[in-house]
Amino acid sequence: MGIVHVSTGALFRKTIDEDTSVGKRVREYVESGRLVPDDLVVGVVEKLVADEGNGGLCFDGFPRTFVQAKALEGVLAKYSLNVDMALVLDLGDDAALCRLRERGRVDDADPTIRQRLELYHEATEPLIRYYCGKGLVCRVDGDADVPTVSRRIDEALKVGVV
Ligand code: AMP
Repeated sequence: MGIVHVSTGALFRKTIDEDTSVGKRVREYVESGRLVPDDLVVGVVEKLVADEGNGGLCFDGFPRTFVQAKALEGVLAKYSLNVDMALVLDLGDDAALCRLRERGRVDDADPTIRQRLELYHEATEPLIRYYCGKGLVCRVDGDADVPTVSRRIDEALKVGVV
């Protein structure tokens, strides 16, 4: 659809591989399943919006906190941009745990997965209500195989918020 896909998690994994001082700092958070501090996340996003925001961006795994959501709005406003849609992939914790176990990333060990899920419910899930209040939420049932969920996401993006 010509929209740039931005996974903040993937960007952080790249930073870790580069092994800079920022990479070392980020590694501690990512590998223990904690959230990278908001100022660092927002800095990365700010640069992306400045460089590529005009063609449209699809953030994956961002925002994860209320502070990030508010900061995003501020950054977008600077460029006369705004959030068009918040896509929520619905999946229960047990199904998520099974999938992540199979994936086997460094941060996919059981205790780390549980920590990430806990932080999700605590810090990120409340954002669904926040975006609902703005009429921006589109929910997609994520409990199906990859091609099915991909198709559902494609359809949701085409239709937009209804
Ligand atoms: P993900 O690839 O989305 O599963 O993210 C992997 C890890 O990167 C997370 O567990 C966090 O440690 C970190 N991370 C990614 N995105 C964010 C974000 N928006 N805020 C804070 N930490 C993040």
